[in-house]
Amino acid sequence: MLSVRIVLLGPPGAGKGTQAVVLADQMGLVHIASGDLLRKHQARETELGLKARSYMQSGLLVPDDLVIAMVLGEIGRDGNNMGVVLDGFPRTLEQAKALDEAMAENGIDLAISIGVSEPELVRRLGGRLVCRECQAPYHQDNVPSICSRCGGELYQREDDTIEAIHRRLVVYQSETAPLLDYYHQQGKLHQVDGGREVDEVTRLVIEVVDNYR
Ligand code: AMP
Repeated sequence: MLSVRIVLLGPPGAGKGTQAVVLADQMGLVHIASGDLLRKHQARETELGLKARSYMQSGLLVPDDLVIAMVLGEIGRDGNNMGVVLDGFPRTLEQAKALDEAMAENGIDLAISIGVSEPELVRRLGGRLVCRECQAPYHQDNVPSICSRCGGELYQREDDTIEAIHRRLVVYQSETAPLLDYYHQQGKLHQVDGGREVDEVTRLVIEVVDNYR
């Protein structure tokens, strides 16, 4: 089994979650998705979930201290040893620095950025339904009545409204896009074209990881 620490970067709707699931399955990595963890906290109405809710609904980032504590707590369980694919974290420079400090040796191994044009992101997110159980995404043009992966109920996320989508894209540009430069300077950044078919994007992502091994 491969012990590699991967960060998936890219704007909302780029397909990070989809690719993270495949990577984790194929390579035996722990998959940690900060958005999924936050939605679980919301569903359980924990203190963190309640604090995070208004930020998430409006498409803003949840404050760094809350997200950092949550994700580093998850990694602490077994991700640092087994290898991990982080999806949706880090999203700010402060988060990236906290992650580097928490990781043994020289921080993460690979940052893979999935690029998609803005009109395509708006199309994907605006028509997106996701599974309440496993978070698998579907597009309204071609949607089953229940999740074909786990049978869960499909719903539209509260932050997949036009207004929140636009805010998330602006936040991505201002807060998260600078991470590309951060990881480029560390020699860890790899960029793949996320506008292609899902399987082709998977092939490109796996190629990056294989070349690293
Ligand atoms: P996602 O499912 O990754 O699209 O995340 C949904 C929402 O959760 C984001 O729009 C943020 O409000 C919040 N969120 C997820 N990950 C982070 C993070 N690393 N930092 C701050 N907020 C986050």
